[in-house]
Amino acid sequence: MYYTVYKITNILNGMFYIGKHATEDLNDTYMGSGKFLRRAQNKYGIENFKKEILFIFDNEEEMNNKEAELVTEEFLKRPDVYNLNVGGFGGCNYVNDNGLNNKYPHERGGFVRCLKQGINPWLNWLRSLSEEEYAAHIKKRSEGIKKYLETHGSIWLGRHHSDETKRKLSIANSENHYGEANGRFNTKWVYNIELRECKVVPNDYQEDGWQDGRICGSWDFLDRHCSNCGQHLHLTSNEPKTLCDKCLEEANNHKLRERNKKKQEKIDYYTKLYEDYKQYGWEYIQKSYNLTSGKSRYWNMFKKYVPSYKPSR
Ligand SMILES: [Zn+2]
Repeated sequence: MYYTVYKITNILNGMFYIGKHATEDLNDTYMGSGKFLRRAQNKYGIENFKKEILFIFDNEEEMNNKEAELVTEEFLKRPDVYNLNVGGFGGCNYVNDNGLNNKYPHERGGFVRCLKQGINPWLNWLRSLSEEEYAAHIKKRSEGIKKYLETHGSIWLGRHHSDETKRKLSIANSENHYGEANGRFNTKWVYNIELRECKVVPNDYQEDGWQDGRICGSWDFLDRHCSNCGQHLHLTSNEPKTLCDKCLEEANNHKLRERNKKKQEKIDYYTKLYEDYKQYGWEYIQKSYNLTSGKSRYWNMFKKYVPSYKPSR
């Protein structure tokens, strides 16, 4: 079992959700929980949401700790998050059991309007509360937490990380600074051309058909054909190639031939011009060749294109 902390982002407006998910298959189709997030997914279309696995742990406790560390009351105040509850507690059951998922800003209207404006309606709703209402809400929330802990027992109480957890978190966080690792602990991305899949796996993972790396965006490159002869291109990445090797070579040869042809035409023209100049002089060629530029231009051309050219003096 993998215990993951993931991030789901609305690629249209950048709003995101951080949650946790335990799974046997890191590549499963799970796209988050949370009523607010689901509503947004229905509205915008699931294809406009991307999922990133931020952390992978081998136990529930560490997963909960990480979620609690990220999804705090402070975090919930951000205007660009779909999260409605602090992280770290026993999962969906907690929220459902306590009715915290039942009262939503849309009941007070303006939900869709807020989404359109990229505003977190939850935050708006909090702001719209009177001081008494707000206090009652917070009280209800903490009572819900207490009640949950009484009936379900505590999975996580406060932030008492073990030394081992602290060490892992500190490594994961230091990896964070290097962008690529992006906080994933002991994991890497692999992709499979045949299955058209990417997944996050432990660092030492090795399996036939799976290569290190991640295909971002579309897998359409696998279906791309040569735009000239129609032959399948057998690409292994999203490279911007449109011609097969053979057609590319031909195209290059064709270009080279064209270039050579043009060069030969210039050689012929300026050689004739130069010969006539030597025989009849500048004024003659100026008239009969209808030359419009100054002398120096033609001398440069002679120098460049005429094999028999000899500078005077
Ligand atoms: Zn071709």
